[in-house]
Amino acid sequence: MTTAVVVGGGPNGLAAALHLARNGVDVQVLEAADTVGGGARSGELTVPGVVHDHCSAFHPLGVGSPFWAEVGLERYGLTWKWPEIDCAHPLDSGDAGLLYQSVEATARALGDDGKRWSAMFADLGEHFDDLGDDLLGPILRVPSHPIRLAAFGPRAVLPATLLARWFRTERARALYGGIAAHLFSRFDRPLTAALGLMIAASGHRYGWPVAEGGSGAIIAAVVAALGESGGKIETGVRVSTRADIPPADLVLLDLSPAQVLSIYGDAMPARVRRSYQRYRVGSSAFKVDFAIDGDIPWTNPDCVRAGTVHLGGSFDEVSYTEKQRASGVMVERPFVLLGQQYVADPTRSAGTINPIYAYAHVPRGFDGDATEQIVTQIERFAPGFRDRIIATTSAGTEQLHAYNANFAAGDIIGGANDGLQTVLRPRLALDPYAIGVPGVYICSQASPPGAGVHGLCGYRAAESALRFDRTRHGPADR
Ligand SMILES: Cc1cc2nc3c(=O)[nH]c(=O)nc-3n(C[C@H](O)[C@H](O)[C@H](O)COP(=O)(O)OP(=O)(O)OC[C@H]3O[C@@H](n4cnc5c(N)ncnc54)[C@H](O)[C@@H]3O)c2cc1C
Repeated sequence: MTTAVVVGGGPNGLAAALHLARNGVDVQVLEAADTVGGGARSGELTVPGVVHDHCSAFHPLGVGSPFWAEVGLERYGLTWKWPEIDCAHPLDSGDAGLLYQSVEATARALGDDGKRWSAMFADLGEHFDDLGDDLLGPILRVPSHPIRLAAFGPRAVLPATLLARWFRTERARALYGGIAAHLFSRFDRPLTAALGLMIAASGHRYGWPVAEGGSGAIIAAVVAALGESGGKIETGVRVSTRADIPPADLVLLDLSPAQVLSIYGDAMPARVRRSYQRYRVGSSAFKVDFAIDGDIPWTNPDCVRAGTVHLGGSFDEVSYTEKQRASGVMVERPFVLLGQQYVADPTRSAGTINPIYAYAHVPRGFDGDATEQIVTQIERFAPGFRDRIIATTSAGTEQLHAYNANFAAGDIIGGANDGLQTVLRPRLALDPYAIGVPGVYICSQASPPGAGVHGLCGYRAAESALRFDRTRHGPADR
């Protein structure tokens, strides 16, 4: 029987382990922390009974993941919950752009720009799965839907700043800008329109749901499926050298390129090693979780029904702050992504006490405390918020790194989304999961298709590993 070790029990490591186990491989997962889950854990962080997402919160890519769908995570206890409004982007005027799953409802709420929003997103939302087939995986392969890809291409290669000019109203421009900010990159570079388009389109296809009981419920379901297929998990095992990895036919690494380099660097071919050395770390986040009494007193009343609220003001302001941050400047009013998961999933609250999730985009490796900037940014659109705070827990870039060795310098997206690295990660190769050492693969979010709790990096890396294994033994031998 083929044996495999998976280092790291994040969503991708577990997905890789599950796919291998379902294909008859004897799999063992080694996880450094006391629990598996990586960027998809949840639990109490402020007051007893109030459940917070430690990292990921909203899961359009999870609900739309073809791998999770194939496994059927709902059969293992996972329930998705949708907020009425997926995302709100309030403005200083008291107005707000609102993203609904329905393109028509979004267009209605956008008023004068409704038709333009529909023209931009209706076809992308409708054909999101076709695009996903080609874009949520290695880019260097024959596309399955070349016509759809060709139609998407001219919009995707634009800088986000240029694409935003399509809209006439600040409401639509800002709504698009907040979504584009998920890229963690400056907006004036080619290709930066693409991610904003895909994330908005994913919202129109699947909504931006949360997992009932917290993002950890996704992991609990994957772990249950893995156990059923015979996979084993060992926690509290930090892998620092190859000697820490038990002998196995296949090794999958749910690790950052820097960790892969430090463990396998001397065994990697020089050309692969050089590309890993050149891999650029992404920008950082500063996270704050609040327990508050009641709801946030938003100036714009629709915001109270939104799962996600983007705080950054106009498109131009978000574009400016992202550019400043990318050049290492900590601005007074950083872009903040705020989560009100409890509006979709009230099980996370304790009586009238609700969990609020927020993180600010900060310069790489920022070592200050951005808690006050986040509170001030929320107050800007919700005066009186401060008075409702009961408890606060902050995690800066150092704490994020200590929480998960993959989050070096607080990089939560597994590497910079700039230039070709956005699509060719961790390196330019027909098999980007192979690290050049026979039987060893990277399967973390630094590999295609990148960040998100979709398990697709793990699934596709496991596919590569299984192909390699078949060439050695033939399928009947496993
Ligand atoms: C604050 C924040 C907000 C986010 N929001 C969202 C969101 O809303 N939606 C979304 O889809 N995604 C979101 N993400 C991204 C998402 O969490 C990641 O893309 C996803 O978790 C990546 O999964 P992974 O398995 O590649 O790696 P990770 O989640 O990083 O898991 C890696 C695992 O390996 C373990 N490990 C690391 N080093 C070692 C070692 N040397 N030895 C043994 N074990 C090791 C770690 O402890 C961890 O458990 C967010 C991330 C963060 C941090």
